[in-house]
Amino acid sequence: MKRKVVCYCDRDFEVDLPDQVELNPEMEEAILKGSFMSTKCPHCGKLLKPEFPVRVKNPERGIDIFMVPEQDRNVFYDNSLPYSIKEGMSVVIGHRELIEQLLVIKSALDMRAVEIVKFYLLKKALNDYDSEERLSIIFTGKEQDMLVFHIFGLKRDQLGIVHVALEKYQRIVQELYARVKEEPFGVLLAPPYVSINKFFSGDFLRGDS
Ligand SMILES: [Zn+2]
Repeated sequence: MKRKVVCYCDRDFEVDLPDQVELNPEMEEAILKGSFMSTKCPHCGKLLKPEFPVRVKNPERGIDIFMVPEQDRNVFYDNSLPYSIKEGMSVVIGHRELIEQLLVIKSALDMRAVEIVKFYLLKKALNDYDSEERLSIIFTGKEQDMLVFHIFGLKRDQLGIVHVALEKYQRIVQELYARVKEEPFGVLLAPPYVSINKFFSGDFLRGDS
């Protein structure tokens, strides 16, 4: 599909990008390495990573993910996307969340339990740091018996790396059935977009709402 990309150099160009890809090992590597959808500006040579809606699927592995571009986040929340997301697809917003979702699948984890862990980590971070920045958190992989998360926005331009014992995650998995009925998790974990970013708001996490 032909897409128009506008570069930082203010010039634009057309690039042919798929609106659907099969998640084979090569594609998975390209997404995880960050080279998926990257393209070079023919005018200035800058490497760009534009975001366009794309479906990533592998029926044999039960994977059917739709990536909404970050710039469409609010339109998605308002239910007024100009393109449709079919039932049964899971939604991620932006390349970063697409990579995260693939890492969750690769680590054989349950996205819902991972999001609950993230919720508590972010809540704690908000209490510990009176940050002016907008905080966000992302799962970056499993290392032996630890889950690793990156928190952005703690201090200006600083990245926080947090390790959580796999045991803690497993305890949440065991309680998952009851947890999904509790608020805020009922809303947070409702498909198709299972993400703490759904209502990212410091005020909400601080418990003011
Ligand atoms: Zn350029």
